[in-house]
Amino acid sequence: MNDNPFIVRPHRFGRGLFATRCIKFGGRVLCFRGPLIDFARSRNPRFECYCVQVGPNSYTLTWAPERFINHSCAPNLGFRDARELRALRLIQPGDELTFDYSTSMAEDAWTMECQCGAPHCRHLIGDFVDLPGEIKARYRELGIVPEWLSEDFERRQMAARMGGLLSRHGLGDGNGNGNGHGKTVSGGVPSGNPRVRYVVRIKRTWKRTGEYI
Ligand SMILES: [Zn+2]
Repeated sequence: MNDNPFIVRPHRFGRGLFATRCIKFGGRVLCFRGPLIDFARSRNPRFECYCVQVGPNSYTLTWAPERFINHSCAPNLGFRDARELRALRLIQPGDELTFDYSTSMAEDAWTMECQCGAPHCRHLIGDFVDLPGEIKARYRELGIVPEWLSEDFERRQMAARMGGLLSRHGLGDGNGNGNGHGKTVSGGVPSGNPRVRYVVRIKRTWKRTGEYI
């Protein structure tokens, strides 16, 4: 018996998941149960569009129907833990089910233009660390940032503080910390113009399909 509270339907970007019945606030909606792979394997073109990050170097492969869940900057689902999504509000039959991809991303490797249509759409999907501060705070308050991602964020903040301290004392480590080049280890506000960095990253890593997974 299929007791999923959702089905796959055509969507303006391909396909999406839509609720088939009312889902109460806090209700468990779906779990990503696929096998785990590491970052290197997740870059394989066969898997790249079909993974969800669940740890610093850990990704779960997604199958249908879960793989068709789209991103939204105003999601109605959020993580309960690294693999399980719950409802963030009362969901009505026919509503599209979405989560914010940035609540499962800390890889310094992938960004995507967003056209979700939410009133406060960020227009770009990237790592959690790159979210505006108030969104990071709200998501943490809601408890939808998985533990591994929260720890990753705190590590980056600590590294940024250490980097700032070292450069203030003229003790930069020469690895790019604090100078805005290469991978950012900052607490979400890289040096220089973040939009420029985004554009470069999009050009390098634009998904082939142009669809949301
Ligand atoms: Zn958006």
